[in-house]
Amino acid sequence: MRAVRFESGGAIQLIQLPNPQPGAEDVLVQVLAAGVCRTDLHLLDEIKAGEREPLIPGHEIAGRITKIGDDVYTAKVGDTVGVHFEQPCGRCRQCRRQRTNLCEEGTTLGFDAPGGYAEFVVAKQTTVLPLPPNVDVAAAAPLADSGATAYRSVVALGQAEEGDLVVVIGSGGVGLSAVQVAKAYGARVLAIDLKEEARKAALDCGADRAVNPKEAPSATQEFADRAGADVAIDLVGTKATLDLARSLLGPGGRFIAVAPGSEAIPVTADDLVDGGKAYLGSYSSTMADFARALALAEAGRLRPVVTRKAPLAAAAEVLSDLRAGKIVGRAVLFPGPMDP
Ligand SMILES: [Zn+2]
Ligand SMILES: [Zn+2]
Repeated sequence: MRAVRFESGGAIQLIQLPNPQPGAEDVLVQVLAAGVCRTDLHLLDEIKAGEREPLIPGHEIAGRITKIGDDVYTAKVGDTVGVHFEQPCGRCRQCRRQRTNLCEEGTTLGFDAPGGYAEFVVAKQTTVLPLPPNVDVAAAAPLADSGATAYRSVVALGQAEEGDLVVVIGSGGVGLSAVQVAKAYGARVLAIDLKEEARKAALDCGADRAVNPKEAPSATQEFADRAGADVAIDLVGTKATLDLARSLLGPGGRFIAVAPGSEAIPVTADDLVDGGKAYLGSYSSTMADFARALALAEAGRLRPVVTRKAPLAAAAEVLSDLRAGKIVGRAVLFPGPMDP
């Protein structure tokens, strides 16, 4: 099969490999579409710096099952599926408690197991879900990460409800999905981004308002009859955005950090005790989050914004455009036919 590999030194190579074979409880998926996530750039940088082994990236995958292992009962050949990148062990303490996003023993497609920048990928049968017939594969691929992460941040952790004010800082792939999920749950949404194009995309996704960071405090006060946001989601992770999210949060609000980083988040005991605020971090997602994202997509409430479609061989060019800030929302690669 053809695959794209991030090589040591940072080169992006199109290579030929033998087709992978599924184990007893695995399915072999022909990749029809693979989303290009900003995390892929971080992985490339880590490989270039010698901090990570070469790999086949791609953790947003939609495709068709072409082969199954002997002990596969929940999926069959011919199914069109979304693949979740986390391949949890199912046995560790975290997995037994349904916290598969924190599995201690498993692998992650596109991180430490071969990912979706390839014609085929092997996944555990428990990590694929059938795609709703009304969701095309290009829109479905990003649901595994940007869609599921958005659901986890806004609903599972943020507990957004009817009438809440949800502030989303950063209108990239996850941010635009978060806007749609919050609207689907009846919240009012204020989107914040430096780039005008991204703010426009947030409005197209249903945000009630989209402003630059400077305008955010006054816009929040205008919106919030209870002085402050009920949910503040930071998808950027800089000191400026973390401080902004904290400053916009109202009494009883939930602060959700999604972007990793080493910046400190200053919280006082008064914030937690008198303010009744909760500070939470959203890491990866579970199959339950993924299933909810697919259900929202089936209901027409969540559609990842895909603005660039390219063949697998154009991966290097797409990644360099993503790094240059030229891609709004998501780009999707097609290892086989374009836009199948
Ligand atoms: Zn990602
Ligand atoms: Zn586990």
